[in-house]
Amino acid sequence: MQLAKRLKAIKPSPTLSLNAKAKALAARGEDVVSFAAGEPDFDTPVHIKDAAKAALDAGFTKYTATGGIPELKSAISAKLKKDNQLDYSPEQILVSCGAKHSLYNLFQALLSPGDEVVIFSPYWVSYPDMVRLADGEPVIVETSAAEGYAPDPKELRKALTPKTRAVVINSPSNPTGAVLGRDALARIAEVLAGHDCLIVTDDIYEKLLYTGTPFLNLANVAPELAPRVVTVNGFSKAFSMTGWRLGYAAGPKDLIGAMQMIQDQSTSNANSITQKAGVAALTGTMEPVEKMRVEFQARRDLIVKGLNDIPGIHCRSPDGAFYVFPNVEALIGKRYKGKQVNGSVHLSELLLEDFKLAAVPGEPFGAEGYLRLSFATARTTIDKGLLRLREFVAQLS
Ligand code: PMP
Ligand code: GLU
Repeated sequence: MQLAKRLKAIKPSPTLSLNAKAKALAARGEDVVSFAAGEPDFDTPVHIKDAAKAALDAGFTKYTATGGIPELKSAISAKLKKDNQLDYSPEQILVSCGAKHSLYNLFQALLSPGDEVVIFSPYWVSYPDMVRLADGEPVIVETSAAEGYAPDPKELRKALTPKTRAVVINSPSNPTGAVLGRDALARIAEVLAGHDCLIVTDDIYEKLLYTGTPFLNLANVAPELAPRVVTVNGFSKAFSMTGWRLGYAAGPKDLIGAMQMIQDQSTSNANSITQKAGVAALTGTMEPVEKMRVEFQARRDLIVKGLNDIPGIHCRSPDGAFYVFPNVEALIGKRYKGKQVNGSVHLSELLLEDFKLAAVPGEPFGAEGYLRLSFATARTTIDKGLLRLREFVAQLS
């Protein structure tokens, strides 16, 4: 069948497909250890589920306003003020079916053919493909582990052109877990002050921070740029609500209006019951979120230590999110069962096939020579996975 030409520029999400593969193997009875999933393993907090049950019982099951129920938009506006010291009125907010959907709407609303979006690598796998789906061109600015994945202002300046419509910032980062602090953000802001483009900040991992210092959005550091900052966030990671599909964007009114029009003609509103649950998440106790964060921190320490104990693997301790991004360059080029390991994708395949261990290769994140392991899984599972990885490495020659 002849499909749309634009599909040639994109590929399936490698994180979702590896996750699906691991789940399918487990369903067949295989003893799979999965570090693939970018989702917390905890249940959604009870008060959030109760709000959804109440909404269902009250018959809150009809279409809502496309952009979200007023109660939720007000709660988001209040959250952005209270947690982030950001001023976005409810009219500047669009509620969508996940932060992924928010970003998709954004690029669809913003880009014309040939427009450029600057993305720092390593990047979340979906940014470049979402840009391409909107006929835009991703422009990649590399960052390195040695610099804590903070962008080099000179490299950023070089990447900006008259076609640059947006720059994407993601801190804490998927896949590196790196957090951009005040100085790093100020350096980015200084460059962007001289270039009229949108600044998209994807803050979805803001609650998962292990530094002891508060989260910072670029607009906190450079308030003069706030009018062109679009803040994207969601409920999936902080509240363990991946399956509920709820996220939002807050930004300039005309952009939000354009995004809403796209949503009007595509999905309409986010699920009505989920929106009520979202209100409970934002207005209720944050105790369960903090409990999860503390547990993630313990798991982080466990997995970082375990990885660094394996010869040939080097792993930074991430300051946020729930991913480690170990350097495995020393394993690539070695031989396993007589065959040369030719890259991170091959490494990931061997681990899944022979050790039933799911780890996402670095290559689709724009970082060959790395693996991404999610530690949003039980400590016993982490121990088991580390053992398998150690066994694999011991068999390399
Ligand atoms: N941004 C980043 C960096 C992510 O890792 C994810 C993961 N799913 C999303 C956005 C989208 O999350 P969701 O659509 O579940 O809100
Ligand atoms: N963002 C998560 C991940 O990186 C979920 C999967 C996806 O949406 O790509 O694993």
